[in-house]
Amino acid sequence: MSLASQSLTTLRSQLASGDISSRDIVEDTIAQIISRDGEIRAFISHDPETALQEADQADLSLPLGGIPIGIKDNINVLGQPCTCGSKFLEGAYTSPYDATVITKLRAAGAIPYGRANLDEFAMGSSTENSAIQITENPAAPGHIPGGSSGGSAAAVAAKLIPATLGSDTGGSIRQPASHCGVVGLKPSYGRVSRYGLVAFGSSLDQIGPLTHCVEDAALILNAIAGEDPRDSTSLAVKTPDFTEGLDAGVSGMKLGLPKEYFTDDIDPEVRERVESAAKKLESQGAEIVEISLPHTEYAIATYYIIAPAEASSNLSRFDGVRYGNRAENPANMLDLYQNSREAGFGSEVKRRIILGTYVLSSGYYDAYYRKAQKVRTLIRQDFENAFEQVDAILTPVSTEPAPKMGSAAGNPLKHYLADIFTISANLAGNCGISVPLEPVKGLPVGLQILGPHLGEQTILKVGRAIEG
Ligand code: GLN
Repeated sequence: MSLASQSLTTLRSQLASGDISSRDIVEDTIAQIISRDGEIRAFISHDPETALQEADQADLSLPLGGIPIGIKDNINVLGQPCTCGSKFLEGAYTSPYDATVITKLRAAGAIPYGRANLDEFAMGSSTENSAIQITENPAAPGHIPGGSSGGSAAAVAAKLIPATLGSDTGGSIRQPASHCGVVGLKPSYGRVSRYGLVAFGSSLDQIGPLTHCVEDAALILNAIAGEDPRDSTSLAVKTPDFTEGLDAGVSGMKLGLPKEYFTDDIDPEVRERVESAAKKLESQGAEIVEISLPHTEYAIATYYIIAPAEASSNLSRFDGVRYGNRAENPANMLDLYQNSREAGFGSEVKRRIILGTYVLSSGYYDAYYRKAQKVRTLIRQDFENAFEQVDAILTPVSTEPAPKMGSAAGNPLKHYLADIFTISANLAGNCGISVPLEPVKGLPVGLQILGPHLGEQTILKVGRAIEG
């Protein structure tokens, strides 16, 4: 078995006993990527030389000492390219600093390694919006890996690397984790610093781990969580040890099944998998109750107003002057902006910028943006009410297993609708995790476990019970 296929706990004990070195793991990861990533295309770039140097200096006494972790290509790593899956930055941008999550991973001894593919600027659900390459689902060849952190999910599923970081604005960690059959955790808003993550929807974005198992997700969250003076939205709360009590079980817990999430639109076999997961937890002593999240039907419309609004503002920095590629021979300043943006951005990014600018424009602001903010509050209140009754909520991650590549090409609305089960957690700021269930016709399917704000310990515990 390759070292990249092992859990972090196994690697840690092998490192501690001296059976393997950090160099062994990094060399194995490099070899896996070189020999197998040509077909999967999970990584946009990787830098073996730097990683091997870091491996030789790794402090194995640290919690993630000497272990390589793949990084979504919208998180800055000092000295490495950061393309965001966009022509705008490809070949034209090298990160001048480490994102806080990278500083924290390094402080825990880990080696950030490889730049994982994504939908351009994290906009999408299939990684097919990457302007650089298309990633294949290693668990289901010919199918999409999900998105936008499709490269991060595929890299772990293909066992190219032990774990990766992704980012989740509306489901981009949980959905590809579900489609590829790995664990994906979106922390609560404010749990993890966003400093150095290229912003998409600043009030929604969170960085989180994609891993082989729930315990690994807890180990990485231990390393990356915590207040950061460089991100005013990171919270001044103590970071618990997320591995503690992981095996405590679900006995006595109340778990909710929201009736709005179990409609006829779901693939019946996906529904069956989620319902039998609930039964499994019930047999372990949990109480399963039906709950209601009445504003669910407005979540997609709300998200696709707020996220593009924030994106249109965040992406205004890409003007051909400050970052990335610049159009040649402009006639004047406006021409420089327009030509650089016309050539640099792909169609989905342009669509979001146009949508976002529209909903923020005077005259439409009240009708769309302000209204969406009000509905967002109602969605958050739905969860607050639900979490007065239950400890965690169980839902599907996606209405169906990973579709075939190209099947939603030219149909952005189909992609938007596929986010129905994941986006509410971002709008509310809650945490969520996807944990693999039995595949459906050979295609991976995940269970989504949603927890209250800062309720990561609860959902990790439930996730562990599902795995066990
Ligand atoms: N699929 C959603 C979108 O396209 C979510 C993306 C994300 O979480 N980054 O916006």
